[in-house]
Formats: sequence, structure tokens, C-alpha cells
Amino acid sequence: MAEESNSVDCVRCGRTAPPATGVFYGGALGDQIRAGICAECWAEWKQNEVMVINELKLNFMDPKSQDILAEQAREFLQLSAD
Ligand SMILES: [Zn+2]
Repeated sequence: MAEESNSVDCVRCGRTAPPATGVFYGGALGDQIRAGICAECWAEWKQNEVMVINELKLNFMDPKSQDILAEQAREFLQLSAD
């Protein structure tokens, strides 16, 4: 089993800080967030996410909405698509 790290070099803010916890995204995006986004930036996204959901009227049950939200998260957190 891989060692659990207590900090990440955050892609977004550039600090070495505690990693994001409670990341609910799966796949590559979830991995990228867990490996490269700090808890503070993740918290910022979670606040922003609420606004995005309301603004774009997204529905968590709808795969298309999930894609849009993932794309928004990627942009907000400055993660590269691959
Ligand atoms: Zn950060």
C-alpha cells in the first residue's frame, strides 16, 4: 500500500499544504485533485461549485451535468485535461 502523504504541492496555489479530503470525483479528475490540490483550494471549489450548480441548473443525476461540473472543476483548479 502506498504511503499516505500529509501534504501536496498544490497545482493551483503553488503551496505545499495538506491535501484535499472528501474528494467525491472519480476517475482521472479525482486522482488529479487528490494528488495535486490542497485542502484550501478544494474548499474554495466546493463553495464555487454550489454557485455553478445553481447558475447552470445542473442535476447530479444527469451524466451530462456531471461532465459539465467536472469540466468546471478542472478549470477552477487549473488542472490540465489529459
Ligand atoms: Zn492550493
